[in-house]
Amino acid sequence: MEKHVHRTQRRLILTAIGLALPAFWLKGCGGGTANAGASSGLPFEPLELTEAQWRQILTPEEYRILRREGTERAFSSPLDQEYGEGIYVCAGCFLPLFSSAHKYDSGTGWPSFWQPIDDRHIGTKRDFRLIIPRTEYHCARCGGHQGHVFNDGPPPTGQRWCNNGVALRFVPAGEELPALRKGV
Ligand SMILES: [Zn+2]
Repeated sequence: MEKHVHRTQRRLILTAIGLALPAFWLKGCGGGTANAGASSGLPFEPLELTEAQWRQILTPEEYRILRREGTERAFSSPLDQEYGEGIYVCAGCFLPLFSSAHKYDSGTGWPSFWQPIDDRHIGTKRDFRLIIPRTEYHCARCGGHQGHVFNDGPPPTGQRWCNNGVALRFVPAGEELPALRKGV
């Protein structure tokens, strides 16, 4: 019930964005400015580390994207053209965020999915970096920025979850998922 309400709200937001924005804005995958925050009441323990700890754990490029809402260069991630079966986990804390079952080629140069693996694993917020509002999304456990979601995706959701490949790690089917990261 509650989940359904959230879905409906999201769809309304996405529809509003789609009506308001010209197509060239929607094809971008740029980063935002405000800090992402983990939600409460989730089926996992949030991971909260200091910026110094994140710098210790992450590569400079992972840090720039996950913790500073950066955006990788289009077509730069090998995950853009990864179509093997498997699970995509957050590069910051290893929470599963997407499945190969929901991946498609959007042609944008960024790994794209038509839905997350679990709505509870994703947090969203409005982002005004390009002046007009967009919907930023991040890992609900560590707050790491992943990408932006748009409403020009394929059926059945019509959504395009446009993700930085650097912010994800691909775990091929048959391999064990990494344990959730606990700290440094
Ligand atoms: Zn995470």
